[in-house]
Amino acid sequence: MAIKAVRGFKDILPDESPSRLKIENCAREVFGLCGISEIRTPVLEKTEVFKRGIGEHTDIVEKEMYTFHDRNGESLTLRPEATAGIIRAVVEHKLYGKSPLLKLFTMGPMFRHERPQKGRLRQFHQVNVEYLGSSEPAADAEIIWLAWEILTRLTGPDDLLVEINSLGCPECRPLHRKDLKFYLENNSQDLCEDCQRRMKTNPMRIFDCKNEDCQRNLKFAPVIRHYLCPDCATHLGYVLDILEAYGVPFVQNATLVRGLDYYTRTTFEIISRNLGAQSTVAAGGRYDGLVKLMGGPDVPGVGMAIGVERLLLLLGQQEARQPLDLFIAALGRDARDEAYYWIGHLRRHGIGVEFSFEDKSLKAQMKQADKSGARYCLIIGEQELDDEEAVLRDMRTREQEKIGLDDLPEALVEKISKEKAGE
Ligand SMILES: [Zn+2]
Ligand SMILES: [Zn+2]
Repeated sequence: MAIKAVRGFKDILPDESPSRLKIENCAREVFGLCGISEIRTPVLEKTEVFKRGIGEHTDIVEKEMYTFHDRNGESLTLRPEATAGIIRAVVEHKLYGKSPLLKLFTMGPMFRHERPQKGRLRQFHQVNVEYLGSSEPAADAEIIWLAWEILTRLTGPDDLLVEINSLGCPECRPLHRKDLKFYLENNSQDLCEDCQRRMKTNPMRIFDCKNEDCQRNLKFAPVIRHYLCPDCATHLGYVLDILEAYGVPFVQNATLVRGLDYYTRTTFEIISRNLGAQSTVAAGGRYDGLVKLMGGPDVPGVGMAIGVERLLLLLGQQEARQPLDLFIAALGRDARDEAYYWIGHLRRHGIGVEFSFEDKSLKAQMKQADKSGARYCLIIGEQELDDEEAVLRDMRTREQEKIGLDDLPEALVEKISKEKAGE
């Protein structure tokens, strides 16, 4: 019996690659507009990186990581997200400090052992950005703008919405936490099992619960917005002002949370109305305490991630591959020997060329030329060698012309390049 791929791990077949390339190219282009450099960290890290960088009492670390012991007995984990590993690398290589603001992006696979469903795989892909070294609202706003710009360039703005909230800071959050705990203790009768647990470890996370009873219970729960200290309120107001200047539409969502202590102030999601249950296409926020927690200097940070598989659902399938310029149908050993020189020359000069590896009949080679989707087909056999003229067929109009063999590759390069430039 043939072996199949692991559940939730999907082959990316040639049909899907152009859509992914389009996303990656678009992201790189937008990152270039903001002076962001690329970093690529390993997919495998010491488990400790994520325990510290995501938090022990999170669903990710408690239930969803691919963790195993390697042959030396060391606990290793396939990265479930990008930020923790990037910060580990920044601290390890002392990248921060060489410049006052680090702007980094990365793209690649992440791994979580969740129940696979539409738009959610166990190996999934993200485009990530992290800014380290600025606590200014302009940094938060630029991160949100980046996500918005990439998504709208790819799908248009119509069905996308930015939801934004502030999670406060170590000054103001404890007051909210205390009141929320008090509220929950008096309204805990219908809370689900998960929320009973969250109540003790991570009360703000309860707002994330999809359970209807929990949601009903939370209807009058205190939200952080009413507890923000003057600095946090000013910060949020300024972020919103800048977004308005950038022309990014947003709504404030008081129950949008990320429940970890080092997440501070701005948190946001970009939602698509076309994706049903898995509606979040991008998410991010500020994490001012994280770098210090990972053993680095006390450096503020803000970042975001775009979910590539979710975005693919919005994007649909793209054109399979770039059209081929030329197919060369060469018949017989002598003609084929000549053709190899031309093929080398043409490809060196940017002309896409395919040919049959086998010395098949003209009919068979013309069939292959048709399938290749090539713009032109060059036919060269014994007769053409004798006449010192090859036949060039326009595959659209079916018109044919003769080309002298003397300067054939140069003439073809000129003709096809000119036509491509004009298109
Ligand atoms: Zn505050
Ligand atoms: Zn719940």
